[in-house]
Amino acid sequence: MYDVRFYKGNYKRRQQQANWDNCTAYVEHHFNATANPERNYAVVITGYLASEMSKSWGRWYANKVGEIFQIPVAGTGGVLVGGYNGRGNGNLKYTRMPAILLEPLFVSNPLQAEIVRSEDGQDKLAKILADSIVEFFPNGGRIAFSIGHKYKTSRPRDRGAVVFGGGTEADFAEIVMEKAKYLLENHDPATWTPLISEEEDVPENDIRVIKNGEELWVHTDTDEDDEILWDDENRILYINTQ
Ligand SMILES: [Zn+2]
Repeated sequence: MYDVRFYKGNYKRRQQQANWDNCTAYVEHHFNATANPERNYAVVITGYLASEMSKSWGRWYANKVGEIFQIPVAGTGGVLVGGYNGRGNGNLKYTRMPAILLEPLFVSNPLQAEIVRSEDGQDKLAKILADSIVEFFPNGGRIAFSIGHKYKTSRPRDRGAVVFGGGTEADFAEIVMEKAKYLLENHDPATWTPLISEEEDVPENDIRVIKNGEELWVHTDTDEDDEILWDDENRILYINTQ
């Protein structure tokens, strides 16, 4: 049902080749990194002119990463269009199919680097990616995979960010994508079950404050008809019951 191909060379070339191969969808895998070791969120980047399909798919992926690893999502509901200062746009803008750039975790954050370096974490990330493709492209097709940084002809030694504890962003992205390829190419609709959070189900109406992965506060008696307003200026969350 799914035929997953890795595209190499410079980013524009990868996208053109995926177009020529009539790919159904295009994914480039990165990990995030920054100087602040506590920074943690999941985000997906789309091109400036991305379709609603790309944005919905990206939101689905980012929110699933957030749910499975209990981390927040950034951007608008998990998606940044064009990324910071337009970063990421060139990695996607030549595609003629839904296309997303993944930044699921921060490899500069020791806790998240541990996930990236562990087999269990890699399996979960691969499953989330494969689940997102099955969810959005249920009829199968040829899927284009691009490993961020690696295999560029212009800078062949680029491997992206250094991972806390050892290794590089691109090498771990490749491990995750190889696992996702295996899952997709062995996909059987009859037995496929999407990954769900191992934590106890959090009631959908609960409001929680989480600091660095630790729950500080929870408000449980909220109804879905209540009005929830975040005042960003004064940093107050208002809950107005009917
Ligand atoms: Zn990167």
